[in-house]
Parts: sequence; C-alpha cells; structure tokens
Amino acid sequence: MSLIDLSATELVAKLHTGEVACAEATRAYLDRIAELNPKLNAFLRVDADRALSAAKEIDARRARGETLGLLAGLPVAVKDVLCTAGEPTTCASRMLEHFVAPYDATVIARLKAADAVLLGRTNMDEFAMGGSGENSAFGATRNPHDPDRITGGSSSGSAAAVAARMAPVAIGSDTGGSIRQPAGLCGITGLKPTYGRVSRYGLVAFASSLDQVGPMARTAEDAALLLEAIAGHDRLDSTSLDVAAERYSESVSKPLDKLRLGVAREHFGEGLDGEIAAAVRKAIEVYESLGATIDEISLPHSKYAVATYYIIAPCEASSNLARYDGAHYGHRTDERAMQSELETERRALVAAGNKAAAENLDSPLVRMYRRSRSEAFGPEVKRRIMLGTYALSAGYYDAYYLKALKVRRLIRQDYDQAFQKVDAIIGPVTAAPAYKIGDKANDPLAMYLDDVYTVSANLAGCCGIAFPCGASSGGLPIGVQLQGPPLGEDKLLRAADMFQRITT
Ligand code: GLN
Repeated sequence: MSLIDLSATELVAKLHTGEVACAEATRAYLDRIAELNPKLNAFLRVDADRALSAAKEIDARRARGETLGLLAGLPVAVKDVLCTAGEPTTCASRMLEHFVAPYDATVIARLKAADAVLLGRTNMDEFAMGGSGENSAFGATRNPHDPDRITGGSSSGSAAAVAARMAPVAIGSDTGGSIRQPAGLCGITGLKPTYGRVSRYGLVAFASSLDQVGPMARTAEDAALLLEAIAGHDRLDSTSLDVAAERYSESVSKPLDKLRLGVAREHFGEGLDGEIAAAVRKAIEVYESLGATIDEISLPHSKYAVATYYIIAPCEASSNLARYDGAHYGHRTDERAMQSELETERRALVAAGNKAAAENLDSPLVRMYRRSRSEAFGPEVKRRIMLGTYALSAGYYDAYYLKALKVRRLIRQDYDQAFQKVDAIIGPVTAAPAYKIGDKANDPLAMYLDDVYTVSANLAGCCGIAFPCGASSGGLPIGVQLQGPPLGEDKLLRAADMFQRITT
C-alpha cells in the first residue's frame, strides 16, 4: 500500500509515532502532484522545497522528543483565497496575481500551529464566484473522474486534489455551496461549518455574511480532524462564535442512536436528475437501516433561495471588491498608455468640435481605476459587481436588497422550525452529475440555478456536509447532503461517518 492510500487519520497516527516520516509522506504527495497536476490544473502553486523543508523540520522536532500538534506533519492543500504571510494569494484572479499577503489568515496560523505541512495553493473560480471551477483566470480545474468534465466550484482545485490523492485533505471556502458542490461532483466529503464556527480573518472576502472556511477530505473522519484544527473563537473576527472548539476527531466515530432525519419535499421536485434522486433515496434507506427515523418536512421558502442569494451575495461582493482599485490593492493599469489614451480621446473630441465633452473626460485617477478594474477582473466578477451595484443603488435598495434580507429571514425561520423536529435534513447536493467543461459557459443563469440545494444553508447560517452516496450510469460520483442546525457539525460528521462505515 502506498502512503497516499492512507486516510489522513491513519497517516497522522503513523506520523505521531514516527512509523512514517513527514518528509516521506510529503514527498509522496509532491510526486503525485507532479504526475497529475499538468492534467488536472488543481494547484496554482506548489512550493516543493518549502514543503519538504517544513516536513524535515517537523521530523527533527519529533526526533528531539517534542510533542507534535494535532496534524503532526499532515500535508494540507489550501484554496488560494486565504492570506499566507510572504506568499502570493491570488484568488485565481489577474487582479491579485502579484499580491503577496503581509500576514497569515487565522486558519493558516492554526494549520501551522497544528504542524500541518502546507503543500500548495489550489485553483478556484475567480474570487470564489462560480459553481463549476471554470471561472479561474488560470484555467479550469478538471475532474479526476473524467478530465473533460467540471469539478464543481468554487473550491475546484481543493476537491480535485483530494479526489486524485494529490493531497490527503484540503481547505475550501463556501459562500453558497463552494465546498459541498465540488465535494459532491468529485466524490469526496466536504463540510461547510456554521457561520462563525471558523474564523474568516484573512479570508479574501466575497460575501461576508455568507462566507465560511471548511474542510474537504476523503472521509468524514478526516474532515473532523481538519475541522478540529481550524475551528474555534478568534478575537480577530468579530463574527466568530465564542464557543470552545470541539474534539470532533474523538467523537466522529461514535454512532448516533435515534438520529432523526428530515426529507424536505421541496428538494425532490422539478429539475432533479433521476439518477441523483434514486441515489439519495437509497442513502435515506441506508439511514433507516441504521435506525434513523425519517420525517417529511417542508422548507416553504426554499423556492426563493437562489433569487435571494443572487441579490445578497452580489451586493456584498460589489462592496467588498471596491477595494481593488489599482491604488490600494491589486493590478494597476499601465499609466503611460492610459495618459496617451486620454490625450488621443481629447484631441479627437476637440477636432470634432466637441469641446465640452473634451473637458468632461475622466480625470486620470478615475481613468486609472476604470482601466485597472476592466483589465483585471474576469467576466463573472464584473457581472456580480454590476448586479450588486445595481441592486444597492438609490431607488432599488428597498425593492431588492431590503426585500432579499426579509426573505432571508423567512428562509432561516423555515430551518429553525425544521430543526425543532429533526437533527438534520437529508437531500441532494447538485441537481445532476458533473457536466462537460464549456457546456454552460454562455448561460450564467443556468449556473446560478445549480446552487438551488446549497445556498439556503448559507442564508440561514446553518452547517452542511456533502459526501458520496453512489455513481451515475456514466461512472460519475453522486453526493448526498446533510444540513444541520447552528453548531451541529459534530452530529453531521458522526452521521456521515456512520454511513461511510457501512458503505465504503
Ligand atoms: N456558486 C455560488 C456562486 O457562484 C457559490 C459560490 C461559493 O460558495 N463561493 O456564488
């Protein structure tokens, strides 16, 4: 058995005792990355030398008798959305291509403190906007199960890396499904924690009231280990919950008796692929065979979830992304070319006798902002900025943004009510298995609709886990999702682990 076949939990146990050297494990993963990354484009950057020297340092510390942290030298891949001191953090955008973060995100600091080895930075949809992995300025990530197909997004590279054994575990982020969807489409386990469970300090913001960082892994047991390392209160993030971190890795293997699962009738309506519906129904039967009770529930406002999300997320994004102006952060246009462009325009207007327009041209500062942003943001990011700016503008704010906030409250109330009756809600993650790269490229609305099963958990602030429950007739992974109440991570992980113990 090769080292990359061990689960993260098994590997960490061997790293702790010294049965496996950290440098050896790191090298095995680096070799795998070198072999597969040219085909899958999962990693944007890998610093092999740095990873190996960090691994050797951990081996030396263990040899000196030091007690190692929770992860004991476990290699971890990180989505390129978390600031890491002295390293580029690009968000897969030309805007941040040359940005070097001046500090560590809390999640990065916690990984380092737990003695993880940071393998490299994974590809993603630009600024985490997307559900397919195709919106990266550095090329789409490819699904390890079929490289012509999408991985799902936006944590595309993290999902592909774990699915292809280029990393034992990875960090993703989820604003409306970006951990769970690629986990479902690549056949791995991904958990979106409760809003506030994991610090957002140093996470490049997309939609701040929805963003959460979380673990992506082969199994729930491995996800529990990674979550334990990163979760917990952080005074640098005022929205982080002041609740002590739980020992997820210890409790994950304890089965739950009397698990009460809810099935929302709205989750099995129009648009759901037949194979997915059948696989999810089978997963429900597996839970019944494990002693769970199944109740039908209703989430009556879920039909408004996608529309609500696509007002709130772009509004917050348009505000968050205003900081990329070429002056404070990010790409700055070539100012000489800009000056000569302005001069040419001015002369042409004067020659045409339009002196007033010539005097009204942009100031150089405004032109610098405009050119910098036009050049460096990709089309989906620009679309979100325009949608958000429109919805927030005077006269529309009440009609769109305020209305969306009210519907968000109703969606949250649906969940509150459901969780009085059940421990978790079981349903699909995506409406269909992974499609071919390019298939929806010209249809942003179709892509938005793909988020129908995932955005509600973010709007309601709950947690959700996606894990494999079968395969399509074409051999593509199918995922199932469990959504739980705020701080229900422990139960979700245990429920997923129960399932995985008998199905894998
Ligand atoms: N697909 C959703 C979007 O495009 C969710 C993305 C995410 O969770 N970061 O906004």
